[in-house]
Amino acid sequence: MKFGIDIGHNCPPDTGAVGIKKEDDLTKAVGSRLSQKLSSAGHSIINCTPSQASSVSDSLRQRVKKANNNQVDVFVSIHFNAFSPTPNPRGAEVYVASNTGRAIAQSVLSEIVKLGFKDKGVKNGNFFVLKNTSMPAILIECCFVDSQADMNLFDAEKMAEAIKVGLIGEPEDTSTPQPGILKITQTTILKPSTLQSSELPKEELASIEIGDYPVLDIRREERHYWVKWPDSSKANRNEHFIFEEHAKVTES
Ligand SMILES: [Zn+2]
Repeated sequence: MKFGIDIGHNCPPDTGAVGIKKEDDLTKAVGSRLSQKLSSAGHSIINCTPSQASSVSDSLRQRVKKANNNQVDVFVSIHFNAFSPTPNPRGAEVYVASNTGRAIAQSVLSEIVKLGFKDKGVKNGNFFVLKNTSMPAILIECCFVDSQADMNLFDAEKMAEAIKVGLIGEPEDTSTPQPGILKITQTTILKPSTLQSSELPKEELASIEIGDYPVLDIRREERHYWVKWPDSSKANRNEHFIFEEHAKVTES
């Protein structure tokens, strides 16, 4: 999967709320950890956070443009809440602008709630980045920067892990490799990531012919296979490759 990660604010004059802690610091801490985690789980990341902007609306427009131009599969905007008019504001909520992001939003929220944060629900929100992105999009309000209870509970590492699990599920047991024979029934391409072949440098791709190949580990993921190839000279230095689904791979 290709995730567009939008680290809220951090682009003056687009700056976030300031409570007991600064929203800008927290979105950065969570967003950078989340990107790293998704990337080490084999997903591609597009950082949608702009480095400079002339206005808040310019900052928001750039985030949307980055996601749309890169055709990410899911857009994830990370924010923290503040200044709720209700007494004792605290807890997590996730916004969507359409039903396409609702299941993802619910899954992410459930994981955050497991950390102990109050469940404020999945809500419809008219946010610019949700309305104008062309893929399932969610905006996470992780918790309240002006709530002492939330800030006592908050840990960037745990929050990033919860969001990751909400997005891609529990980590598979990678400690037990599943060696097998890969039966390729149609010539296909080995790739070092989930990006489309057309988006990767030609030298990182290798053609794989019809045949049986012993591999050290094989796992089926959403739209591809992930394999650990015994011969690291195959398609450069990498030993992890991803097959396109149309390759008609059979494991045995
Ligand atoms: Zn915000």
